[in-house]
Amino acid sequence: MPELPVRAVGFVGLGRMGDPMVRRLAAAGVDVRGHDAAPGPRTTFADLVTIVDKPAEVVPVDGEGPPVVVLMLPDSNVVEAVLGEGLLDALTPGTLLVDMGSSEPMRTKALAERVAARGAVMIDAPVSGGVSGATAGTLTIMVGGPDAEVAAITPLLAVLGRVRHVGPVGAGHALKALNNLMSASHLLASSEALLAGERFGLDPAVMLDAVNGSSGRSGSTENKWPNFVLPETYNSGFALALMVKDIRIALGLAEATGAPSALAARTVELWSEAAAALAPDADHTEIVRWLRAGESTDPDPRSDR
Ligand code: NAD
Repeated sequence: MPELPVRAVGFVGLGRMGDPMVRRLAAAGVDVRGHDAAPGPRTTFADLVTIVDKPAEVVPVDGEGPPVVVLMLPDSNVVEAVLGEGLLDALTPGTLLVDMGSSEPMRTKALAERVAARGAVMIDAPVSGGVSGATAGTLTIMVGGPDAEVAAITPLLAVLGRVRHVGPVGAGHALKALNNLMSASHLLASSEALLAGERFGLDPAVMLDAVNGSSGRSGSTENKWPNFVLPETYNSGFALALMVKDIRIALGLAEATGAPSALAARTVELWSEAAAALAPDADHTEIVRWLRAGESTDPDPRSDR
């Protein structure tokens, strides 16, 4: 593997995604200083990363290349709280602050100005590909930020996946929310169709095999249904609550720009109803369980079931 221009990274948020990402960085020879509010990850990471007690202590002091701090946190509220806990004041001039979580684009743009006031640069680099993509280093990374700094961070991000520079700061977060709006919509649409097929008497595995060679295919039919719904494991590692957060961001963006959003609005309603009915830590693929729970017990008499 070629030498990375960045040798030291601070990393805040060692959860489902942060965990495998940090492991990949450490395996690539990067010196990682990590912090998480939960005590669990600290012991898991004892031998891999230097764990520090406060977010401000993750900022690398003497690595090669620009100091880099990565955030992999649930949402903009937590990002701002962590920055307010001393991390913002600890950023040294030239530091690249890379928010890889799925945050709100407008809040990211506002934060970028506060970060710039410290002489540091904010980059948004949210990801798609889930826990399996984070583990395999095959995430798609949607990067927003200025050209020179994005170029400087790209070799490091390439350890984690496929880097796409999509625009200025905030652009990555906007695109990520829109991506998840598409994903949430087609998981609902595919699931309704597959449940209807099941009630008609079709085998879901047979339907998926046919659809995945047809125009109805999507990430939901190619990945989520075969890997998490059919085996009834519902363990994709992406929480339903985080999906609801993302699609609300996307709907807000659609409404703010005046784009058509009738389906987006209905999608947000349905996912929010599912979130209220399911356990707080439900996996997003459990939306299918929720749909099943709402199935009619009175099948259409025209079907032969
Ligand atoms: P997670 O809840 O598993 O991890 C978040 C981590 O942040 C936790 O370990 C938590 O303890 C920590 N944290 C919370 N508040 C903190 C604070 N104040 N200070 C320090 N640490 C704090 O979530 P995740 O699934 O890893 O997702 C992280 C981000 O990535 C989210 O924005 C999510 O939408 C996005 N994302 C997740 C997936 C996925 O498949 N899980 C895929 C793509 C994007």
